[in-house]
Amino acid sequence: MKSIESFIYQWMSERGNNCIEPGSDKPAFDQPLVGIAAGSDRLFDFIKNDIGSDFYWSPSEAFAAAFPDTRTRPEQLSVISWILPQTEETRLAHRKQKTMPSIEWSKARHFGEMVNENLRRAVVEYFMQNGIKACAPTLLPQWQRNISKSYGFASSWSERHTAHVAGLGTFGLSDGLITAAGKAIRAGSVIASIKLSPTPREYTRHTQWCLFYTSGSCLACARRCPAGAITKDGHDKEKCKEYIRQTTRPYVEQKQLGWPVNSCGLCQTKIPCENRNPYAK
Ligand code: SF4
Ligand code: SF4
Repeated sequence: MKSIESFIYQWMSERGNNCIEPGSDKPAFDQPLVGIAAGSDRLFDFIKNDIGSDFYWSPSEAFAAAFPDTRTRPEQLSVISWILPQTEETRLAHRKQKTMPSIEWSKARHFGEMVNENLRRAVVEYFMQNGIKACAPTLLPQWQRNISKSYGFASSWSERHTAHVAGLGTFGLSDGLITAAGKAIRAGSVIASIKLSPTPREYTRHTQWCLFYTSGSCLACARRCPAGAITKDGHDKEKCKEYIRQTTRPYVEQKQLGWPVNSCGLCQTKIPCENRNPYAK
């Protein structure tokens, strides 16, 4: 059995799996980053209580939703998390935009998320074929959106929070996850009944890699947001969602793809953390 990291890298390197739109020879994403978290990591419990203990899943709860007849302790589980960085072509095109998403970004949001979903399925299959039970929490029928008392729009399982636990990055002012490959990314994860070595977290604070939270400087993402949804107080999810619903989603349908897509992400490009960790020396 090859390592899960190798499997993910190889799967993403095959153009048929990772293309910006069906039949294209252009990739949807660059080389992924992969991190591992222990299913028993206490940070998962902290996040569950912080977001909403009544609806947010711990790894063992998500696993139990997928395999209700199996009793699995958190210590027996590992969470495999990955980051799919936007390509340079997509980022450069998106940098030029001021109020509407680039077509490249909209394609990566739509077809790219299909790549991410297929990768989740492929990773689950990889484990199951090797006799190891596995599930992708966001693909489970029980996964649902919810409202967090503290944070507003939320869901049963957050890919960004999972990636944070798996050592892949910290949060920025705009709520996005700043990774070693920057913040212009998508994330995904799978839980498997196998003990793997966790990836060390090279941070002690959940916002450590954001320049605003470390030194009070930057605010570039706030200046990029046409909806005024990012301020020194953080990310206003209501304003963000409203702008996407009222403005960019119809734009994608009418001017770009012919169907509506929740595409925006202007706050993820033309900023110091677009494709790198700005905190790293
Ligand atoms: S653009 Fe600046 S303020 Fe915004 S998340 Fe990145 S580092 Fe933080
Ligand atoms: S996704 Fe768009 S509307 Fe939402 S915060 Fe970023 S730039 Fe603003």
